[in-house]
Amino acid sequence: MFSNSDAHSLPNIAREYNTFEKVDPSFGGLLDLLKLKNKQVVRNYGLPPKLGKYHRTYCLSCEQIIKGSAPQLTCPDCGSKHVVMGVLDRLVSIADRPMGKQNDLTYVHQVPLRHLPGIGPKTYERLLREFGTEMDVLHHVPVEDLQRIAGEKVAVWIIKDRLGELDVEAGGGGIFGRVVLLESQKHKE
Ligand SMILES: [Zn+2]
Repeated sequence: MFSNSDAHSLPNIAREYNTFEKVDPSFGGLLDLLKLKNKQVVRNYGLPPKLGKYHRTYCLSCEQIIKGSAPQLTCPDCGSKHVVMGVLDRLVSIADRPMGKQNDLTYVHQVPLRHLPGIGPKTYERLLREFGTEMDVLHHVPVEDLQRIAGEKVAVWIIKDRLGELDVEAGGGGIFGRVVLLESQKHKE
């Protein structure tokens, strides 16, 4: 299975991407991979769905994202049907079989740098100027170098992203989700 970004937004062009192991780095090798000729390891990286702007239902009267188990089709607080339906809520409401937990170890949810707390346009530019690509920053740059360029706090968020230690408060109604620490990480702070 491959998951890739669409191409309508240039800064997000590599938001979803793949890594391969044991693949001959040639067009022939890639073709073999696509034809599933060999049992190479494919890993997909992509945005956590909860970060999406329309993940959960949003009440237009209360102007808030509705929490609670999906599907939320009306607002539980004011009873309004005047809502922007969330993708998850819609999915659950039309699913004709139970939706299991995602348990695909070949899919890695990764928060893009610009969604991490403390990374505004200036810090983002500085990181790219210093280290080259977002992939380098997310996967390879040593923590000391991140601290030197972006400061202690930002370096912590990047490393936690690298280690998969972030959670997301779901987005909705056109508002992106918000990155937070995993519950298990909070008491370590
Ligand atoms: Zn409401």
